[in-house]
Amino acid sequence: MGPGLPDKGFYYMRLCRFDNGRVGIVEGDNLRDVTAALDVLPVYRYPLPSCDPVIQNLAAVAASIRTLLPAAPTLPLSAVTLLSPVANPGKVIAAPVNYQKHLDEVRGDKDLHHQNPINTIHKAGLFLKATSALAGAGEGIALRKLERRNDHEIELVFVIGKTARNVSKDEALDYVAGYAIGLDITIRGPEERSLRKSADSYAILGPWLVTADEIPDPGVLELSLSVNGETRQQSNTRNLILGVPALIELASSFYTLHPGDVFFTGTPEGVSPIEPGDSIHAAIESIGSMDVKVRAA
Ligand code: MN
Repeated sequence: MGPGLPDKGFYYMRLCRFDNGRVGIVEGDNLRDVTAALDVLPVYRYPLPSCDPVIQNLAAVAASIRTLLPAAPTLPLSAVTLLSPVANPGKVIAAPVNYQKHLDEVRGDKDLHHQNPINTIHKAGLFLKATSALAGAGEGIALRKLERRNDHEIELVFVIGKTARNVSKDEALDYVAGYAIGLDITIRGPEERSLRKSADSYAILGPWLVTADEIPDPGVLELSLSVNGETRQQSNTRNLILGVPALIELASSFYTLHPGDVFFTGTPEGVSPIEPGDSIHAAIESIGSMDVKVRAA
């Protein structure tokens, strides 16, 4: 993010949160601590808004970051604990079975479908994950229900940048603030998705938020996930059944999307069990990669 770049809607930032709620800009293997940019946020009074204040005020925050960067302290990324780059989303939306090959594998394996009818996304629509499930890459996954199968799901995640109601596909990308890697961790079993996918830390978001100007087309990104060095999932977002614009059109026809709403777009084939002690490496083109440790809750 240089001083010569346009500042109206173009941020070119990799924004992270780390340690005790500090804010950083990622530059290669380092970050620059720009926590003081939070001082531009308005002081809210109860009732609090149903949105994430940093995303809602991203233009002002970015302008402040620009002035802070020349003197901002530099830290190696390896020395910090990365938190979810969005702290206070109003909701976490998720798309089920949004890659055809994943739909095929779920329908073909009783350990995955548990006699639940698996509809296509056109019939199933969307579901919600609890906001309390959000955690950053550095916080790791705390597995529950260890007697059951717990699976990893890598997903492209986008974050809503401005209030969206009944938005058409054609203008949908204007409503995206940025992108991150999501891990939609899942307890297999008969219950509703919203329960099985909402345990604390079962919505990993990271490693940082890449502002949307860096990713003009979210429909062409390679994504991959490995467990303990073994590749389990590898695909491309061009295989999404409903891409980012169609997901925004669908969701905003049912409810209002607020700045900071987090949207998991669905996982490709290759989901598989994870156990305490495992280490997950997840990567998405143009965003980066993250290592996430798995432990027992
Ligand atoms: Mn999923």
